[in-house]
Amino acid sequence: GWDVPVILRNSEETESSVRVSKKHMRQVKNPFGLEIPHPAAVSITKGITLTADCLEDCILTCYWGCSVQKLHEALQKHVYCFRIKTPQALEDALYSEYIYRQQYFITKTDKEEKYCQLPEDAQIADFGPVPRSRYPLVALLTLAEEEDREIYDIISMVSVIHIPDESYRLSCRILYQYLLLAQGQFHDLKQLFMSASNSAPPSSTASGESSTDKSLLEKVGLADAESELLEENSKDCVVCQNGTVNWVLLPCRHACLCDGCVKYFQQCPMCRQFVQESFPLCSKKEQDEPPQVFQGAPLGADF
Ligand SMILES: [Zn+2]
Ligand SMILES: [Zn+2]
Repeated sequence: GWDVPVILRNSEETESSVRVSKKHMRQVKNPFGLEIPHPAAVSITKGITLTADCLEDCILTCYWGCSVQKLHEALQKHVYCFRIKTPQALEDALYSEYIYRQQYFITKTDKEEKYCQLPEDAQIADFGPVPRSRYPLVALLTLAEEEDREIYDIISMVSVIHIPDESYRLSCRILYQYLLLAQGQFHDLKQLFMSASNSAPPSSTASGESSTDKSLLEKVGLADAESELLEENSKDCVVCQNGTVNWVLLPCRHACLCDGCVKYFQQCPMCRQFVQESFPLCSKKEQDEPPQVFQGAPLGADF
């Protein structure tokens, strides 16, 4: 019953009354992917298995017990001048405020599992009560080859990983993933919630699935190759049940509407949250849209 009135109300009004601004997006290629293949088996004593899935040769560096404050200061340093494109740069920015470090070379064809564990003599059973001053594990992915750093906008990825221990048993998951850009910005990588069949399996978290990493780019857009994948996997708009899902609503991040239906909604049809902004997954579709929507000033000034 509650689902219907919103649609009726909007259809009585003219389309131009919907004041959802279109977020300006830029597509960039993310060379980094990181998964936790067996999150249920992870603990502070048993360690963690990580799988990197990268487009170029990379270096995976794991920092156990990394200072929360120093990590966020390091990200700020990246913004101002001190670009974090190598493990050494991060370590300098952190003032080496971590307990233990492990490093792996990842070739671009390598999908091997990397096992990572604190040494027994570190004698760490937990990282103390919450809120904590140290993250259990921070995984840094950087490009191994100097020349690759010239090609990509994204030069490194910082993943903050929770690992269950004696005092905090929350299951293992990626808490944050930051993509660091060559020009100095950094972006928080977030998962999109697709309405169609390609949602992540329940056991996996944040970027627990290789295809997820590629489809969850908010702010930084999607790799070109992914548009086909989306076409295949997510045909059904939740409203008309027919159109290809193409619109991501913000801030809720539900991707559930096709090009035809998106204009009728000021609230997300899946979670009812008011839509502040939206953006299309496949920007090539923009050319087919009515010109008044896309040729005006950015962010919906034409409404
Ligand atoms: Zn539709
Ligand atoms: Zn929603």
